[in-house]
Amino acid sequence: MWKGYLVKLSESIFYDEIVSCKACPRLVKYRESVPEIKEALDGYWKKPVPGFGNSKSKIMIVGLAPSAQGGNRTGRVFTGDKSGDFLFEALYKAGYSNKPTSIHRKDGLQVNKAYITAVVKCAPPENKPTAEEAKNCSERFLKKEIQYIKPKVIVVLGSFAYKWTLKVLNSLGEKVKDAKKFSHGCKVKTDSITIICSYHPSPQNTFTKKLTMEMLVQIFKDAIDEAI
Ligand code: SF4
Repeated sequence: MWKGYLVKLSESIFYDEIVSCKACPRLVKYRESVPEIKEALDGYWKKPVPGFGNSKSKIMIVGLAPSAQGGNRTGRVFTGDKSGDFLFEALYKAGYSNKPTSIHRKDGLQVNKAYITAVVKCAPPENKPTAEEAKNCSERFLKKEIQYIKPKVIVVLGSFAYKWTLKVLNSLGEKVKDAKKFSHGCKVKTDSITIICSYHPSPQNTFTKKLTMEMLVQIFKDAIDEAI
């Protein structure tokens, strides 16, 4: 087996449990039937996409869900689409990783200062999971990831990630001290975690400059300061 592949597995916690999950029938059907419009290095993944990065870091980054032609194609969270291109460039510029691009699972990328994951691990139609799917997946996996990593800081990308991360933290008994409406840059403290909100790096935000590279890099620098 290719050596680098083993390295990648060691960077995804709860890997076997996540990639074998079939708990949401609609998402299982969708992820497996996505039309293959681009040929990936090693085919289409078409399975749940586990998190990626350093599980010993005190910073987590939580997105919405893999996209049909992004994570669902490459098998690495936020990899293979415009959102991911923007995110990984920002992480590199903020000093989180060894390279500014994430192309495929064997490209040698190391994200050392954060663990990146999503509320929902399977690509949903139109990037819109149902509330039931979000509840199902976040209680099953995001909760475990947070319990395992014990982050000091969680950067949430978009209001969906904010809402479901708060729900998971609530279920873990983390009391929110100063609940706020989602806005870019807002910080919310729980008993032991600081949540930092950012606009999602989707093309609709980045092409319109609602979210610029400088804004996202600053969010990740703030996260490092909060985690110290
Ligand atoms: S979204 Fe989550 S809970 Fe649902 S099938 Fe995928 S991995 Fe399992």
